[in-house]
Amino acid sequence: MSLQDIETRIAAATRAAGRPAGAVTLIAVSKVQPLERIRAVLEAGHRIFGENRVQEAEGKWPGFRAEFDGLSLHLVGPLQSNKLARALDLFDAIHSLDRDSLARRLAAAVQARGACPTLFVQVNTGREPQKAGIAPEALDAFLATCRGEYDLPVSGLMCIPPVDAAPAPHFDLLREMAARNGLEGLSMGMSDDFETAIACGATHVRIGSAIFGTRAAPV
Ligand SMILES: *Cc1c(COP(=O)(O)O)cnc(C)c1O
Repeated sequence: MSLQDIETRIAAATRAAGRPAGAVTLIAVSKVQPLERIRAVLEAGHRIFGENRVQEAEGKWPGFRAEFDGLSLHLVGPLQSNKLARALDLFDAIHSLDRDSLARRLAAAVQARGACPTLFVQVNTGREPQKAGIAPEALDAFLATCRGEYDLPVSGLMCIPPVDAAPAPHFDLLREMAARNGLEGLSMGMSDDFETAIACGATHVRIGSAIFGTRAAPV
């Protein structure tokens, strides 16, 4: 696989779903990848990347930002409150807003900085105890708090279906939850299921290994 193959498959899936060209944004998830693989994707012209750890991202992206214009960096992994300031220094979008304490601190930081990253609320659609994300039944109240109490502009929802489950029901659930809350963004779909996600309405797919190759270590 290569960046171009994935872009071709995204375009085909978008067309097949009867959706307009460009309706789906590709986030190239570069966690744990060697720098030369990331550089190759940058040199091929791609500018939107995802990382799942603040510390790891700090080690590689400031250098690339100095070298390549127009980068957009998305945090797709869990965010601890004590790393919030560093995350805001680094990321243009956060896909893992999932609890009140984080929203409250984020709102204060955004107020102080006068700028807010693009925000996705992560939903634990499979109700997996080890997984981040807000429970589906708590989502509507959480969104109301983010908007009403904290004045945070949430753009959409994000989910990671359980590894052993068919993903489409999770993607459908996420789309329904977004629709009833008036949200446009749907961050869903990874290397193994992005075409299904696009058929279900994904606006952002997060693809790692299919672009960069297998990761060296499990994460
Ligand atoms: C690693 C990761 C991805 C990409 O996974 P692949 O299966 O390599 O495409 C997408 N989303 C999140 C949240 C991830 O942690």
